[in-house]
Parts: sequence; C-alpha cells; structure tokens
Amino acid sequence: MDLWSMTTDQFIEALEGAGLRRAYLVTDPETGRLERSHPVLDSVAQAMSADSRDYRAHEGVFFEIGQESGHLLSAAVHSTRRGQAAGGVRFWGYPTLESFIRDGLRLARGMGHKCALAGLWWGGGKGVVARRAGKDHRDPELRRAVYRDYGRFMTGLRGCYVTAEDAGTTTDDMALIFSTTRHTTCIPQNLGGSGNPSGPTATGVVVAMEAALHHLGLGSLEGKTVAMQGLGNVSTFMVRELLDRQVKAVIGAEIDEVAVARVKDRFAGTGLEARLVPAGDSTILAEPCDVLAPNAVGAILNPETIPGIQAKVICGAANNQLEESGRDSLALKDRGIFYVPDFLANRMGIVNCANEQYGYVVEDPAIQSHLERETPTGVFQRSLEVFKRAEASGRTTAQEAVTLADELMEEPHPIWGHRGQLIINGLVKSGWDKELKS
Ligand code: NAD
Repeated sequence: MDLWSMTTDQFIEALEGAGLRRAYLVTDPETGRLERSHPVLDSVAQAMSADSRDYRAHEGVFFEIGQESGHLLSAAVHSTRRGQAAGGVRFWGYPTLESFIRDGLRLARGMGHKCALAGLWWGGGKGVVARRAGKDHRDPELRRAVYRDYGRFMTGLRGCYVTAEDAGTTTDDMALIFSTTRHTTCIPQNLGGSGNPSGPTATGVVVAMEAALHHLGLGSLEGKTVAMQGLGNVSTFMVRELLDRQVKAVIGAEIDEVAVARVKDRFAGTGLEARLVPAGDSTILAEPCDVLAPNAVGAILNPETIPGIQAKVICGAANNQLEESGRDSLALKDRGIFYVPDFLANRMGIVNCANEQYGYVVEDPAIQSHLERETPTGVFQRSLEVFKRAEASGRTTAQEAVTLADELMEEPHPIWGHRGQLIINGLVKSGWDKELKS
C-alpha cells in the first residue's frame, strides 16, 4: 500500500484500518536508520529514507488522529540538541500525505536554523494539521475540537516539541491548545502569554533590511522605496516602522480588499500606496524599488519571478521564500540581487514567544537585545556575519546562513543537553503509539 501518494484522509483510514490512532517515524540515534512504529508505515518510511531534500535525519515525525475532531495531527521534530523543538502549528490543506509530511519536515528544519541563528536555546520543530475534505476549517466548533486535540497531542509528546502560532492559527486557537496542554506558547496575554508576535517580527525584518543596505554601502532606509507583497499583520507593523525611518515610498499589493481598505485608512496621507490585486498575483515582485519585502506566502522566488525582479535587496517576513533554495538563491546572486534569507530576518516571531514560560517583562531586554545593533547574536550583527561569510566564500547568503546554522545546531543546550532526544527515546520505549486505540 503506497501511503506516500494517498490523501491525508485516506491515510487516516489506513491508520484506523490497522487499529491505530497514533504512529511515528523516528531516526534511531545509534544506527541513524529511520524506524517506523507499525508495518503499515513501511512505504512512508521507505520514501522518507530515500529523500535527501526534506528529510535530514529528523529525530522524529509523530501522527495522531484527534479524538474530538478526527483530524490528522502531526509534529515534525528536526533537532532538539539546542533544546526542545520549537515552532508553530499550521492548519492547512494538503493534496497528499507526501506534501503534508514534507511541509512539516522542511519547516521544522527551518525553525531549527532560525532558533540557532538567533542564539535561542531551542531546537527546530513544526506542527501540521491537515484540513479534511468536506469540512469547513473556519467553523468555530471544528477549530475548537482541532486545537483542543492538538493540545492533547502535545501533552502526549511530553514536551519534545513545544508548539506555537503559525499561518492559519490565531492567539484564540493557541488558548484552546493551552486548555489541554502546557507545551505551547503564543497564548494570549490575559492567559499569561506573549500574544501576537507580528510587531516584533516586522521590526526584526526592518533591522535585517538595514543590515543589508549597510553591508552593500547603500546607506540607511531613508529615501528608499520598499515594495511589499501582502498587507496583513506583519506588513501593517512594517509600514509604520518604515515610515518612521523616512522611506520615500512603500508600495504594497494585497489580495484581500478588507486588508487594503484597513491599511489605506490607517496610513492615509502617508507615503503608502496600497494596491488590490487578484489572488496569486505576483506583479509586485517586479516593481522598481530598493527593497522588496515578500510578506505574504512562500515559494514566490522561483524561475518564473526572479527574471523580472528589479529590487536591489530582498528581505521579508514570509517563510521559505525560495521555491528551491540552491537553485533560486544562485539565480538571484547571478542577477546581482542581494537576498536576505528569511530565517535570518524573521526570527522575532519565535524570539517573542519561545521563552514565555519564564514570565512576561514589559519591553523585555532579553527580546529587545535582538533588535539592537551591537548585540553579537542580534539580527543586525548576525546578518552581517552571514553576509561577510558569503562575500569571503563566494557562496550565496542562503548557503552561508544554512552552514552557520548547522554549525550552531551542533551545540547542546548548556543546562539540559540533548534532552529532547531522551524524551523521544522514552516515547518509543514506553509504547506511546499503543497508548491510544482506534
Ligand atoms: P497575514 O496572513 O496576516 O498576512 C499575509 C497577507 O498576504 C494576507 O493579508 C493575504 O491576503 C496576503 N496575500 C496572500 N497572497 C498574496 C499575494 N499573492 N499577493 C498579495 N497579497 C497576498 O500573515 P502575517 O502574520 O502578516 O505573516 C506574513 C508572512 O510572514 C507569512 O508567510 C508568515 O508565515 C510569516 N511570518 C510571520 C510571523 C509573525 O510574527 N506573524 C513570523 C515569522 C514569519
């Protein structure tokens, strides 16, 4: 049975048919082999083992069928060497099990890179929940069931992965997760959390833009034109930051007319030009500008869009902007376009929430320091470090950022060591997958 190309709903049926509510794939830390919890996963284990694009000896991928919602819940754990895996959970539609698993694997590794470059003592993980055919993912009752299930799933995983907000998830959803687990962040401030991270994310990306301009000898943001894809949460904060820095103009494109009306109203009489564009539109990427900020969706830097880009610098908040990292970062370099890797620039979302169990500090110096120019591991200096490494080696900024992050990911947590792996070993040994029956 080839599960890899099945839909996620068919995968649920296959697990239930085998009497399973839980399943996992873990990399044996001794042998480096990928082990599966049950023979029904054989085809998935084979496909993942043979893949060198997204599977990079991830410590584990865990699945559970939610008891209240019947949805497929998953958590991908890349590395917990620097600390428990941290990263958001997304509730998204996937055509196949392959696309579902690949998204988790790729994003978990990206989170590990992001945390390591930010100097956080957290590892890399990502949660993925598959939308079900014929169910309205916006229905509040369904969301309630899904997120309460996700919390139970986190509790079962004993903290090897600590979840957070992500695309398609709100702080209210995080409060639902929090109602069934302690292993989550990004809960609302009235429940003791850090709330919406979009403001700090926007500031961090702007600081990374400044680092890029400084490195290229192009001065500051003053008098520059910035083009932006998406005018959602992060972009709204970013427009304010940019206007405060006396940019000449901000040109934003957005597919949602409510969002366009909102920013037009908010920034009336300023240098913002907000355009309403059709879904999937990418003409903003070809706008003549100094800095292009992709703040909407991933994979928008690809062979179709790169030839038209006129920006000197690309620096934005969206995750996984390069459709294929090696190919597309080289294509940008060949065109003389300076690319700031997303996981270098957009760290402040995870920085803002990762340590929230240590209490809330107003204008927290531990968070603010990431935005200060002098901090060695801050956005500005870390970006310069990557840019200088790329200049010296002749490789792309994306390649150098990954290399540096991989080096940093070798460092174990200074107090807890490689504890996440011990948690995973315990899950396997105690038969975590057999604790729930279908
Ligand atoms: P958001 O959903 O509030 O905003 C994204 C906006 O992009 C939406 O308004 C959407 O309508 C629009 N959009 C989608 N496709 C478009 C297109 N083709 N052209 C123009 N507009 C389009 O999300 P956000 O919180 O602002 O995050 C933006 C991006 O940054 C996302 O990719 C997110 O994963 C990433 N990110 C966000 C944070 C954070 O703190 N919010 C942290 C790290 C990374």
